[in-house]
Amino acid sequence: MPRRLQSKGCCTYCGHEATKSGMSKHLAACPQRQAIIEEANGKNGVSETLFHLQAKDNHGGNYWLDLEMRGNSSLSALDHYLRAIWLECCGHLSQFSIMGAYDEEIAQTRKAKAVFPVSESLLHIYDFGTTSETLIEVVGTREGKPTTTHPIALMARNRMPETKCIECGKPAAWLCKECVSEHDVWGVLCDEHAETHPHRNYGEPVQLVNSPRMGMCGYAGPAEPPY
Ligand SMILES: [Zn+2]
Ligand SMILES: [Zn+2]
Ligand SMILES: [Zn+2]
Ligand SMILES: [Zn+2]
Repeated sequence: MPRRLQSKGCCTYCGHEATKSGMSKHLAACPQRQAIIEEANGKNGVSETLFHLQAKDNHGGNYWLDLEMRGNSSLSALDHYLRAIWLECCGHLSQFSIMGAYDEEIAQTRKAKAVFPVSESLLHIYDFGTTSETLIEVVGTREGKPTTTHPIALMARNRMPETKCIECGKPAAWLCKECVSEHDVWGVLCDEHAETHPHRNYGEPVQLVNSPRMGMCGYAGPAEPPY
C-alpha cells in the first residue's frame, strides 16, 4: 500500500520539529524538558528509573512516539496507551514479545523496570487478524522523579502525514475503505471528493487521523492520547 515520505514530529515541551532520529537527540537536550525534569525532581516523592521509549509503526517509519515510561508501571499501561493513541478498534487481543520471537510472550503484568533492562526492543501486536505491529525501543533511561502522575508521558509524536486526494491532488482528509479493501488503492480524498466518490460498499469515507491503523479493520480514530 503506498504510504508516504518521512514524517517529522513535534516536541511536546517546546514545539521543536525533528525527524524520528533527530527527536531522540533533541529530547535529551531540550531546555524546556530539562526545566520540567528539574522541577519534578525538586518535589517530594520517590525516584525511580524512567525509560525513554520510542514506539514506531513496524511497517514504515511515518508513525512514531517518544514516550517516557515509569519503571514501576506495568506493560499493561503501555498497551493501554498504544490502544488509545493509535490502535483501538474492536477490543482485539494484544501482546508484547521479544523482537523476532513472537511465541515468547511477555506478560503485561510485568513492570517496565524488570523488562527493559533485559530486552531493549519489544514487539507489540494488536489484533491477530488484521495485525498492527508496533516496535518499542529503549532510547535512554534516567533516574529521577516522573514529570506526571500517569505511567507514561508523551514527549513527542510524528505530525499527521500529509496526503493528496487521489482524484484532484488537493490535501486529503478522508479515506475510502472500499479503495483500500477491494482495489488495493490508498484512497485518500479531499472534502469535495469524499462526497462525490462513488464507492459506498464500506460506508462513507472515514476521516484521516494520525494513526498507523488507519484503513485497517474497523479503525476510525480518534488517535488521541489517553491523558
Ligand atoms: Zn523540546
Ligand atoms: Zn477491529
Ligand atoms: Zn479531491
Ligand atoms: Zn474508493
